Amino acid sequence: MVSVVFAYDTEEYQAPFTDDATKIWADMLTKHGLKGCFCIVGEKARVLRDRGRRDIIDSLKEHEIDYHSDLHSVHPTHAEYLNELNWDDGVRRCLAEETPGIADVEHIMGQRPTAHCKPGSSWGPQVTYGMSILGLPVFADAPVEYAPGQPMWFCNQLCLKYHTSFERSMNVENRFKHMKDGFLERYESWSEGYLVMMSHPCLMLAKTFGDGLNFRDGKNTPREQWKPVPKRPKADAEAIQEAADRFLEFVAGEGIPVVTYREIYEKYKEENVWISLETALDIMRSVSGELTYHRANGLFLSPAEIFGIAAFILDGYNQSRTLPTTLPIRRPIGPTEDCVSDAPIQVNLDVFLNAASQAHQKVSFAHRVPSIIDLVGQQVTPGDFLKAAANLIRDVHAQSQPPKTVMIELAQNTPTLAEREDFKKMRIGGWLMAPGFEAHNVVAMAKRQTWTAKPAVPSNQR
Ligand SMILES: [Zn+2]
Repeated sequence: MVSVVFAYDTEEYQAPFTDDATKIWADMLTKHGLKGCFCIVGEKARVLRDRGRRDIIDSLKEHEIDYHSDLHSVHPTHAEYLNELNWDDGVRRCLAEETPGIADVEHIMGQRPTAHCKPGSSWGPQVTYGMSILGLPVFADAPVEYAPGQPMWFCNQLCLKYHTSFERSMNVENRFKHMKDGFLERYESWSEGYLVMMSHPCLMLAKTFGDGLNFRDGKNTPREQWKPVPKRPKADAEAIQEAADRFLEFVAGEGIPVVTYREIYEKYKEENVWISLETALDIMRSVSGELTYHRANGLFLSPAEIFGIAAFILDGYNQSRTLPTTLPIRRPIGPTEDCVSDAPIQVNLDVFLNAASQAHQKVSFAHRVPSIIDLVGQQVTPGDFLKAAANLIRDVHAQSQPPKTVMIELAQNTPTLAEREDFKKMRIGGWLMAPGFEAHNVVAMAKRQTWTAKPAVPSNQR
């Protein structure tokens, strides 16, 4: 059965008259017994507080509060600054700039956000990872998902795209019919998953976005020079509201399940997962053939998680000359830089095992797959190393004597998923950024982080 999420990008802080639209949506949903997910910009929460709109904040208490960045379109946006920084500095800046926004939204709205929704088209995997560190486990309006409506783990966030919008029916004849028909066309063509239908509440009352007037082409218009946001004609706004009201009544009347990001996360979260050595041996066989996510019992493991398991096993073997029988799943990020490999090379067993112990420490303490594996003066990629480690683990398990040397061949170092269309054709740019801006470095980082990607499986299907 397909469930529906109603998501609202609540961002327009330049035009006070649009504040009311958030209350209209919240009250309409409440009237029909439905819960919406309101992704709120930090500055929007602050202006609602400062404008004394307790009534709106109270209306939103019936719904889920999510997060939509601190300042939305103020430059430099996420992709603009991340493109100039290495991985660690990018994560550091994201944590520094977004922590106050999340804290304000939580404090003013009285709820801890669960999801982060990217502002416009600006994002980066460092933000995805940073939000997971800050306790926001879901990525709304993600640029990737496993399949239409099927969530995927990426950089430790549960990712779902937006699929359709109320906006597509706002400027047409017969709005209710257009909304309902467009919705049903998608809803009925799926057999499972989550159909996310979004809106910007402001567009019920405003003709356009303030961002397009004041932040286009990389410009930051000073607050005192903001161009005013044009209002929609009153009759138009009322007709949109009426159509949306009828549509929500229809959804509620049909008994279509409407869920929130928090409910989805509760179904999919993976905590304290351990696997046996037997299961790990199956995964080692699979990963030596292809660098991708692989199925372990009911779950999938990402290439980075599999790397962590291999390093854990070989570190145990390095310490005690026995293979550990129970293995914790750790969730490291993937390599953050490229590596030129010296493979094929052959090294002594001790050299390889010591490198495995160092990799194990890196996973434990830096929460990442190392970008380069150093083998006493020679270097190989983590992909080369994982393939050799997987073969070694199987050999050690199967034979009474371990091999004296380990052969490391040149292997796949970018997971197969990076070749899928959504990653392959990924671009970050557009009207908000300076003309010609393309975040090539951010896209390269995202492709590397396919090491962290895997389909999400709900706990009742494991
Ligand atoms: Zn937005």
